[in-house]
Amino acid sequence: MKMVDDSAKYGEIDYYPYSMNNVQFTGKFADTYPKYWLKNLLKLNLPCPCCGKQMIPLDEVKALPAAGVFSASCLTAVNTLEEFEDYMKPVEYSIMQIIKPLAQKYPGIDLQELIILLSFEYESSLVAAQLTILNQLKSIAPEVETEHRQELYDIAATAKDFILKKRSTKFKRKIFLNDIDEYTSKLENKETRGKLLEIAEKMPTSEDSVSAFIMKYKDRSPEEIGERMLVFSAATLEHITPDSENGEVTIWECQRCNNVRSNSPVIRQINDNPNMLDNLRNHIKIIVDRAIFIKNHGGTQQSQKLLDYAKAIRDEYLTNIRKYKDKAIKIENEALEKLQFEEIPISDELKE
Ligand SMILES: [Zn+2]
Repeated sequence: MKMVDDSAKYGEIDYYPYSMNNVQFTGKFADTYPKYWLKNLLKLNLPCPCCGKQMIPLDEVKALPAAGVFSASCLTAVNTLEEFEDYMKPVEYSIMQIIKPLAQKYPGIDLQELIILLSFEYESSLVAAQLTILNQLKSIAPEVETEHRQELYDIAATAKDFILKKRSTKFKRKIFLNDIDEYTSKLENKETRGKLLEIAEKMPTSEDSVSAFIMKYKDRSPEEIGERMLVFSAATLEHITPDSENGEVTIWECQRCNNVRSNSPVIRQINDNPNMLDNLRNHIKIIVDRAIFIKNHGGTQQSQKLLDYAKAIRDEYLTNIRKYKDKAIKIENEALEKLQFEEIPISDELKE
C-alpha cells in the first residue's frame, strides 16, 4: 500500500491559473487570416461564441497593470475594474459587488490588502466546503475494493492536513485532483471511479468560488489581482478543431471558455453550453453584417474576405459537429438551422 505522505509535494508546482494566449499560429488559415487581421475583428465587439459575453482585447487587459492603476489606492483599482464589470465572469462579478463598498470604506489600502481583509471572513467557508468534499469522498470508501480502501482515507487525511495548515505548504486543488485521478485509475469498478471523480471535481476553485478566489489571491500582488479580475474575459484565439488534431481555423473566444473547453470536441462544448449555437450565430452574424455594410460602401474585396472568414469558422463548426452525426443528430439539425446566412450558403456536402 502506498502512503500518500509527502509534505513538500503540494508546494512543488506553482501553476498560474490561466494559460495565456500561446496558440500556434501557422498554416494556410493563418496565411490567409494573419493575427493582425483577426485582431481587427475585435473592434466589432464580438461576443464570445460560447458564453456570449463581450470580450476585452488582451492588450487592453495587459496595459492596465503596466500603467500602474492597480498599485495605488484600492479605490482607484476598483473604479478602473468597474468599467469592465459587464464583461466579467460570475465569480469576478461577485467579487466586484463585495469590494466596491469596502474600497469606499478603506480607500487608504491597496487591492491586495483589501483581499486580505476579506480573507478573514471567507477562509472558514472555503475550509468548510473543502472538508465537506473530503467527507463525501470518504463516504464512498465502503464501495471501494477492500485493498484500495485505506489509500482513499490516506489521500483524504493528507489533503485535510494541508487544508487545515498542518503542513508548511498550501493545499492545491490541482495536485489533489491528480492524486484522485491516479488513485481511481487503479479501481476496477467504473461506477465507483466515476462517483469519486465527480465529487473531487467539486473541490472549489478560484474560477467558480468567491471564497477560493479570495483565499488564493490574498497572496498575490495588487497588479496580479487586478489582471486576474479581467483576464478570463480577454479574447483569445481558440482552435475550433483542437490543436491536438491539427486544427487550423481559429475563432475569438473568451479565456474562460477556452480554458474550460481545453482540447475537448466542439460537440461537448455545445452540449455543456445550451446557448452556444445562439451565441455562435450572433458572433458570425456581426461579421456577416459588417461585410454587408462594407460592401454597401464599396469595399468589395474587404467584404468578401470577411464573408470567407465567417464561412470558414461556421463550416469548421459544422464539420466538427458532423463527425458525431450519430450521437448528436439533434445538435446537427439545430446547428444547420441556426447557422444559416443568406450571404454564406451552407454547401450541400455539409447538409447531407
Ligand atoms: Zn466565453
